[in-house]
Amino acid sequence: MTHQYKDITYSLTRSRRKTASIYIERDGSVSVLIPEELSQADLELMLERKRTWIYRNLVEWKDLNATRIQRDYVNGEGFLYLGRTYRLRLVEDQGVPLKLKDGRFCLRADFTRNGNPDKAFRDFYRDKGKERIGKRVDHYAARIGLTVKAVKVMELKNRWASCNPEQHLVNFHWKCMMAPPTIIDYIVVHELAHLFHPSHTEAFWNEVDKVMPDYREKKNWLRIHGAGMDV
Ligand SMILES: [Zn+2]
Repeated sequence: MTHQYKDITYSLTRSRRKTASIYIERDGSVSVLIPEELSQADLELMLERKRTWIYRNLVEWKDLNATRIQRDYVNGEGFLYLGRTYRLRLVEDQGVPLKLKDGRFCLRADFTRNGNPDKAFRDFYRDKGKERIGKRVDHYAARIGLTVKAVKVMELKNRWASCNPEQHLVNFHWKCMMAPPTIIDYIVVHELAHLFHPSHTEAFWNEVDKVMPDYREKKNWLRIHGAGMDV
């Protein structure tokens, strides 16, 4: 459900948190998270103070999304995997729907005709992601001193990753596998830090900084290139 304040459309979540935050989600929508007891007047005061910030970020979001790429399933089309672009080759005889071979993404041609080529890619990223991201989670969880019970790679709505601190679960979007390995590591560290700190507080960034002192560069890379990562 969306709300309106002047010309800002936003979704509102009240929860047992101490501070309020505003996010521009990956789909360009505005999310407002506030403490349960915050009054309507205080909420509007906050939105008024943050109006310029919201506008600036929405404009930035639009710029970034102008780079979103629509890919076609034809020979020679480029698809990202671990930060590199691989050209597509349609093949007739192949056991699996999609595989990387000789520096090409080989897609079984019948998938473009009557199958679902998007699904072939999603499944590929998910399978590879489960292995790679799982290992990186183990690596960083050990360094941070955390136990993670399960790692899932899945379709997540407008997020790179999500977590459940009570159950020690972390989920990653299959699109992470399009990013370079160092960026995947940043997404992993970021999400693991959320197991300690649910929101982006100073304590949260300190936790990230401890294991990844150059995280700012990676965060920025993701902000600039994230929108182009899609199939
Ligand atoms: Zn976060």
